[in-house]
Amino acid sequence: MSSTRDKSALFISDIHLSPQAPATAERFCAFLAGPASAADSLTILGDLFDYWAGDDDLADPFNTRIVAALREFSARGVALLFMAGNRDFLVGDAFAAAAGLSLLPDPVVRDIGGVPTLLTHGDLLCTDDTDYQRFRAQVREPSWRTTFLARPLVERKHEIEALRARSETEKRIKAASIMDVNATAVVAALTSHGAQAMIHGHTHRQGRHAHLVGGMHCQRWVLGDWHADRGTALACAPAGWHFID
Ligand code: MN
Repeated sequence: MSSTRDKSALFISDIHLSPQAPATAERFCAFLAGPASAADSLTILGDLFDYWAGDDDLADPFNTRIVAALREFSARGVALLFMAGNRDFLVGDAFAAAAGLSLLPDPVVRDIGGVPTLLTHGDLLCTDDTDYQRFRAQVREPSWRTTFLARPLVERKHEIEALRARSETEKRIKAASIMDVNATAVVAALTSHGAQAMIHGHTHRQGRHAHLVGGMHCQRWVLGDWHADRGTALACAPAGWHFID
C-alpha cells in the first residue's frame, strides 16, 4: 500500500482521436506509454474518439491500433476506466473487453482521496441547449441504439458524419453561453449526489471553478481537449489536484 500512496488518479477527456489527426493519436499513445504508466488509475471522461460507429468497427486499422495501446496500458496494472461522451456513446462491451477497461455510467460518484467526486462527461450539464438535450435523450434510448446499430456500418458512418457537419454549423450559430454548463445544473448535480467535487469535460474550457453548495465549498475541474501540440490531464494526488501537460 505504501508504495502506491503517492500515486495519482489521472483524468482526461475530449481527445477526439481520428485517423485525420495522427499527431494527436501519437501524443495520446505517448501519454499512455509515459506519464500515465506511473499513475494508479486513468479515467477517460468521454470523447476519446471523434466518433464511434459501433463495436463492429473494432477491425478498422486506426481503432485496432488505439485499442491495442489501451490494452497494453491496462495490462501493465494501471486501472483504466472509461465513460462515454456524446461522440463515443455507442461504445459497448466488446470495445471494453478488447481495450481492457471498465465502463462507467454517466454520471457516477467516486471517492478520490477521500473526496466524494461527481464524474460526468459534462454534456448533461449544458441544460440551456434544449435542442441538444432533446437529441441526447433520443439517442440514449435503448430502442434507438438497437435500431441504429442494426444498420450497416458504412451507412452508420455516413449518417454520423452528416450529423457532425450539421452540428458544427449549429455550433457557429449558437451563443457560446448556451454551450457551456448551466450553473444551476452544476449545483443541483453536486447536491443530489452528495458530492464535494466534480470533474467533467465536453466544453473544452479547461479550468477550476468554485461553487458554494449548501454552505459547502465545492471545486469543479473542467478538462481540456487534446490537439497535436497540447493534451492535458488532471492529476489527483494526496498532495493536491493539478493539471499536468
Ligand atoms: Mn463532448
